Amino acid sequence: MNAPQRHFEANTQAQQAAAPTLLRLDSIAHSFGGLDVLRNVSFNVPVGRIVGLIGPNGSGKTTCFNIVSGFLRPKAGRVALASRDITADTVQERSRAGLVRTFQTPQVFEHMTVLENLMTGSYKDTHSGVVQAMLRTPRARADLAQMRANAEAACEKFGLGRLRDKLAGSLPAGQRRIVELARACIGHPEILLLDEPSSGLNSEEIETLRGWITRLNQEGMTILLVSHDMGLMTVCDTVHVLYYGEIIASGALHEVQADARVREAYLGV
Ligand code: ADP
Ligand code: MG
Repeated sequence: MNAPQRHFEANTQAQQAAAPTLLRLDSIAHSFGGLDVLRNVSFNVPVGRIVGLIGPNGSGKTTCFNIVSGFLRPKAGRVALASRDITADTVQERSRAGLVRTFQTPQVFEHMTVLENLMTGSYKDTHSGVVQAMLRTPRARADLAQMRANAEAACEKFGLGRLRDKLAGSLPAGQRRIVELARACIGHPEILLLDEPSSGLNSEEIETLRGWITRLNQEGMTILLVSHDMGLMTVCDTVHVLYYGEIIASGALHEVQADARVREAYLGV
C-alpha cells in the first residue's frame, strides 16, 4: 500500500471541474446466439469518480463488466483506458494496466485462509513461474515474501488482522466481500469494477461495504459500481441506467430516479 500519493493527486485533479476520462466505453454492442444484449452502449468514467450502472436483471450489466474487464470481446465498439484502446487486451493485461474487477458471487478460495486469499492478489505481479516456485529459486522466494508482505498490509488496512488465519469459507458473506475487495486493491488498481458487491449482504454489512467504497474513493480510486441496492448507489457521482441493453438515462441518482422513462421501465412506477 505505497501509492496513495499518486491517487491523491488524481483525486485533486478530479475535483476540478473537468475530470479527465479514465475509462471510456464507445458504442459497445454484444449478442449471445443472435440475441442482442448490449446496443450502442457509450459512457465515460472520469478519474476519481464513482460511476454506477443500474438496471433490471438481465439488462446487460454483467455482460458490460465482462467486456470492460476482458472476459468477453464485444461484437462492436471499443473500450479505452486512459485513452489507450484496450478492447483486444487480455484480462491480465488490463489488470496490469490498473483495471481490476470483482464478481457478482464473491470469488474467494474457501479452503484457503484469509491471508492466503490476499496473497493471490499479487500473483499477477510476480515474475517467477510454477517451475521456479517448485525449485524454490531465490526469485520465487522473493516473490513469495512480497506477496506475503502485500497480503499483510492489506489485512491491516482492511481490518482483517484477527481473521487472517481463518478459512475464507468459514466467513459470513459480508467479510468475504471485504476479503475480495482487499484482494482486488492489492497492487493499487487505477479503477475498480464492483459487480453487485452488496448481493447477499445484510444492511449492516452493506453499510460497512459502503464505508470502504467511500474511503477507497477518497483515497483516489476510480470506481464503476453495479448494485441493486439504491442506498449503496447513493455513493455514485453519476449513474447510467441500462434497460434491455441500452442506456436510457444518465445523471445523478436522484435525477435518474425521477426520470419518467426510468420509473416506467425500471422502477415499475
Ligand atoms: P445483468 O447483469 O444486468 O443481470 P447480464 O449481463 O447477466 O445482465 O445478462 C444480459 C442478458 O444476456 C440476459 O438475457 C442473459 O440471460 C444473457 N446472457 C448473459 N450471459 C450469457 C451467456 N454466457 N450466454 C447466453 N446468454 C447470456
Ligand atoms: Mg449481473
